[in-house]
Amino acid sequence: PKKKVLDEFPSTCCYCGVGCGVVVSKEKNGDLTLKGDTSHPSNKGMLCSKGMNLHYTVNDKSDRLTHPQMRYNKNMPLQNVSWDQALDRTAAVFKTFINKYGPDSVAFYVSGQCLTEEYYVVNKLMKGFIGSNNIDTNSRLCMSSAVVGYKMSMGEDSVPLCYDDIELADCFYVTGANPAWCHPILWRRVEAHKAANPDVKIIVVDPRVTDTCSIADLHLQLNPGTDVTLNHAIGRCLIENGDIDFKFIENHTEGFNKYQELVFSKTLEESAEICGLAVADIKLAANYIAMSKGYISMWTMGLNQSAMGVDKNLSLINLHLITGKIGKAGSGPLSLTGQPNAMGGREVGGLSNMLAVHKNLDNPIHRQEVQDFWGGAEINPKPGLTATEMFEALESGKLKAIWIMCTNPLLSLPNVRQAEAALKKAKYVVVQEISNKSECLAYADVILPAAAWAEKEGTMTNCERRITYLPKILDAPGIALPDAEIICKFAKKMDYQGFDYKNQEEIFLEHSRLTEGTNININGLTYSILKEKRTVQWPYLKQENKGTKRLFTDHQFYTPSKKAKISPVEDVFKSERPNADFPFILTTGRIRDQWHTRSKTGKVNKLNQHIKQSFLEIHPKDAERLGLTEDEVAVVKSRWGEVRVKAKISEGIKSGVVFLPMHYGKILGNDLNRANNVTSPLIDSISKEPDFKYCAVAVFKY
Ligand code: SF4
Repeated sequence: PKKKVLDEFPSTCCYCGVGCGVVVSKEKNGDLTLKGDTSHPSNKGMLCSKGMNLHYTVNDKSDRLTHPQMRYNKNMPLQNVSWDQALDRTAAVFKTFINKYGPDSVAFYVSGQCLTEEYYVVNKLMKGFIGSNNIDTNSRLCMSSAVVGYKMSMGEDSVPLCYDDIELADCFYVTGANPAWCHPILWRRVEAHKAANPDVKIIVVDPRVTDTCSIADLHLQLNPGTDVTLNHAIGRCLIENGDIDFKFIENHTEGFNKYQELVFSKTLEESAEICGLAVADIKLAANYIAMSKGYISMWTMGLNQSAMGVDKNLSLINLHLITGKIGKAGSGPLSLTGQPNAMGGREVGGLSNMLAVHKNLDNPIHRQEVQDFWGGAEINPKPGLTATEMFEALESGKLKAIWIMCTNPLLSLPNVRQAEAALKKAKYVVVQEISNKSECLAYADVILPAAAWAEKEGTMTNCERRITYLPKILDAPGIALPDAEIICKFAKKMDYQGFDYKNQEEIFLEHSRLTEGTNININGLTYSILKEKRTVQWPYLKQENKGTKRLFTDHQFYTPSKKAKISPVEDVFKSERPNADFPFILTTGRIRDQWHTRSKTGKVNKLNQHIKQSFLEIHPKDAERLGLTEDEVAVVKSRWGEVRVKAKISEGIKSGVVFLPMHYGKILGNDLNRANNVTSPLIDSISKEPDFKYCAVAVFKY
């Protein structure tokens, strides 16, 4: 029998940065169903397998945390307590540490899954009242190299284009990304565009053959870690052939001469050798870019998650700047954010080296402006600890307390054994979570149950600067609360003023007011405008009551000189080189139907059917040499730890390279599925993003 639907709610999928619109229906029994929202411009009604099954993650409450829990010392069991008991004690402990050791003795580690309002209040609390910048987000593991790339090139962390540019582009340069699996709905638009316009060229750069390659005109299966060399080689071809925009370079950029010198310091043959590619293929890629009227580059973790992450980003953006293919329809660098609200988090200053609304921590005027607006403590000019630095500081004892909100570092951080040791040594651990499955709970002194997607309202910003409102549709189970409410309750227990919001919209409006006069201005935008318009892209033009599709159409960039910077990126390899003991290169990544640490997708049977367990992808030649056959257990060892999973033999990966999916943690007490047991602790020196895509490992048959 057809179930009775009570109401329909437009919302947004909370998985990836594509930010697809969904329409959620609430049935009489309280269960949710959903479909794609045809009125949402990002996805026009389409949903991928994860999005289509999103409602099951809320309907199934079997793993939900429902009550605050606490223990008075590490040897005691956790027991249910009231919100007042949990937050009174936590405030008392935080005050003690802050008084005794200073504000930098505590830290918050938050998430790109948080709504903008949640991100805003926790940043305000830490930077504006506690007086420390020790607040970082798991976006550090995801987008921080792209943030630095945008800032260094264009003066600010600003994605210049929009998804509608896809249908206007005639070339795509997809590098370090597998959007067919990881940003599927965006990729469906590229596929449809290519199907309707077969002359559109698609270049895919990846050491693995992925589903994205299936429509590629050219797959450059480069050696891992050689992206800068490749981008420079393409730059060299473009310059040599005169396929650059001299007028644009002259009028709107700085730094071309030094760049030219750098890209000419290697011959094409030398670059091809380093990358493991044919010279002719590099020339062909350059030719596709040169012949295009407009081209879009798309990238994600293959560039960002690297010890050369910033260099890779800059070398890619440089290609847009020398060709002038930026700031116009069908052109520009489109970074694909991993998480649904990584961009919203950046808007409110979610990284430990950022200030709210894209203001700069190292600028005393900016600090004063934000401080005056918040009316709290003096804002510390010193950048706080980043994600991996926090866990090092916990282990060394420099950091006493950590508050983990909406993320599971014991699955997602590199060299995760170190993070375990750190949490074991921490004096006080707060875990704010929805699921009782997180590995972090074993280390918690206090557990705070949080409301999940559809159980709270707020906003998120997707990869194309598009802000969408998400309504509260259901009550959270037990006495779980929305994250922003938990943070505001805690702030009041700390005796801070300025956290007495009547509702989420008051937080949103405060953030919007702070954006006034900045390049991300959304002042005047309200929940009712968002509900009426469905979505708005920042900056929001209040007078015209509309958002902004493209940035830099006047070629005026956000740098002091208004010119974009062509960065002189040195091509220096910084990852951990393989040697006789660790001869393979390990790279990690996502699979199609799982999401991050599987706290949601792992609950959905249909999604677990696609790939049922972790695996090691390995080339047949390497497998043969090791005596490994399909489905036999392979042991992967690095300097940092060990993984044991079944071998999946594939021609689609380069010989000498192996791949592990990132999603799997402790399963039935066994944590040897966890890719981050072995990943390297190396980070990019500027963005501090980990080197997940390159680690020297040994592989054996078990
Ligand atoms: Fe959700 Fe991303 Fe799939 Fe869209 S593409 S439905 S946002 S997971």
